[in-house]
Amino acid sequence: MATIARARPRAFAQWNRRLALAYTAQIRRASTTGEPFRLAIIGSGPAGFYTAYRFMKNNEHAKVDMYESLPVPYGLVRFGVAPDHAEVKNCREKFEEVAASPDFTFIGNVTVGASSDHPDGATVPLSSILRHYHAVVFSYGSSEDRKLGIPGEELKGVFSAREFVGWYNGLPEYADLNPDLSLGAHGDTLIIGNGNVAMDVARILLKSPEELAKTDIAAHALDALSRNRVHNIRIIGRRGPIQAAFTTKELRALYKLPGVEVRPYNLEHPKAYDVLPPPIKRRTELLSKGSHLPPDPSKAHPSVTFDFCLSPLEFNHNPEQPSAPQNWVTSATFGKTVLHHPNQHYPSVDYETNNHKEYYDQKATARLPPNPKKVTFHTRYIFKSIGYKSTPLPEFSPLGIPFNTSTGVIPNDGIGRVLTKLHHPHQLPSSSHPTPHHQPHIELPHHFRGLYCSGWVKRGPQGVIAETMMDAFTTADAITEDLIRREKFLPDGELGQDGKGWEAVKAEALKGKNARVVSWEDWKAIDKAEVERGQKAGTGKEREKFVRREDMLAVL
Ligand code: FAD
Repeated sequence: MATIARARPRAFAQWNRRLALAYTAQIRRASTTGEPFRLAIIGSGPAGFYTAYRFMKNNEHAKVDMYESLPVPYGLVRFGVAPDHAEVKNCREKFEEVAASPDFTFIGNVTVGASSDHPDGATVPLSSILRHYHAVVFSYGSSEDRKLGIPGEELKGVFSAREFVGWYNGLPEYADLNPDLSLGAHGDTLIIGNGNVAMDVARILLKSPEELAKTDIAAHALDALSRNRVHNIRIIGRRGPIQAAFTTKELRALYKLPGVEVRPYNLEHPKAYDVLPPPIKRRTELLSKGSHLPPDPSKAHPSVTFDFCLSPLEFNHNPEQPSAPQNWVTSATFGKTVLHHPNQHYPSVDYETNNHKEYYDQKATARLPPNPKKVTFHTRYIFKSIGYKSTPLPEFSPLGIPFNTSTGVIPNDGIGRVLTKLHHPHQLPSSSHPTPHHQPHIELPHHFRGLYCSGWVKRGPQGVIAETMMDAFTTADAITEDLIRREKFLPDGELGQDGKGWEAVKAEALKGKNARVVSWEDWKAIDKAEVERGQKAGTGKEREKFVRREDMLAVL
């Protein structure tokens, strides 16, 4: 085992070196004009940066242009990762290394393919990008919420985790969210969802303002959270404790909040937990123990309670509740779910009396029975942490670029090559994988040559930065491999791309427009101003973010 473990990295390094050498010779021939290979990356989150890093490392003559719709880089590293998880944001150092290369250009405040111009930003059509690059990587993440689709979802007091997280992290889109968190304890605050984002939301709601003041949390959020009267939180999952997606590390972080009680969860069939994989066993044991705070007869300390196998049915507003503002949520009704084996026809069982394997199967799915047992909680705040969603760029359809709206990803070969089955005038399938002539009715998926994807828009909105990094490396290596194999990229020539990159896109799409494009040097000026603002706060604040585009641009 030990030999294999040592041999693998060496073999991988050799492969990488061979790849780099072969490619260095190849890349000069990549375009008919003799110009360097030009790659456009859309999105500057971890997927975009790690794709750029890996590709540039293996292809020293390549030029990479990265388009970002916001004036600031890093995607969810800046606008998703919780402010008290500063160590997670260390990946920015690697991204800065990438950006320091003379072969890399950051093109901030420029949205690719949006249907309308943002008043403070610029828009360039995707078709223009396709005309001026050899290849394009879509790594634009997931910029929408999943919806529950139940009555009352639009009531006040109901927030999506995306908007709440975006608000406390200073995302311009939610600068005006302004949630009133001072309504007081009328029932419990409900967080629907069982991932790490749900844990983040609970922790930020319960953390002391003094602790938050040391982080890069947005000033408006610190202010509102210090008046926050959220007291008891219920974290509610559709499936059981075994199937929850949050990690033990994030669960433990709740237990570490001073003065917060995590109520023990009463586990079913504790003996059967011995069969669980160790990480799941540790997490379930932690859940069952609770945080053992000393008894508090006044019940003054805040608490966290976990509920499982509950699916939201409706959110309600009761006008007779005197303290509830108009159209504000006052209660939420849930139905008890039953667990099913994902691929087998086991009989469905009630969670309460569950003695079946479903309970211990991590992949079990939850379904609502026809007449579910109902549970209602009084509440003033609901946070829906049920996932993010990717959408196609507006020009995908007219350009014949596929998008799977049910899974929310760009169809790809699992490695990063965009796949299409459509026959469309703009579609230019790879010559090496043609549809066989003897099977005219079967449309085999083709690589849409020159198009690649990485990150959440490739795999779906899940996975931590380390997973996104590995995924981005795979995409970068796929492009390199295609170069070595002499695959065709976006077509060049008179009607195709000219490999002129950003300068040509700018001349074509932004001519005569009063667009303020943000360069990497511009971002560094914004960055410096934010750090200085943080120092002025006098609380040891890492930075004070600008939360509006116009304020970011006013620095320049
Ligand atoms: P993103 O990070 O979303 O980047 C996409 C970028 O594309 C954005 O900058 C966006 O502005 C830009 N963009 C979008 N559309 C366009 C367009 N049309 N033109 C140009 N640019 C565009 N992982 C951890 O390891 N630790 C954590 O603690 C952690 N916490 C998280 C907390 C939350 C709330 C969330 C949602 C995720 C968290 N993650 C964490 C996961 C991590 O953030 C993701 O793995 C990673 O950010 C996904 O990278 P991405 O590049 O695919 O997408």
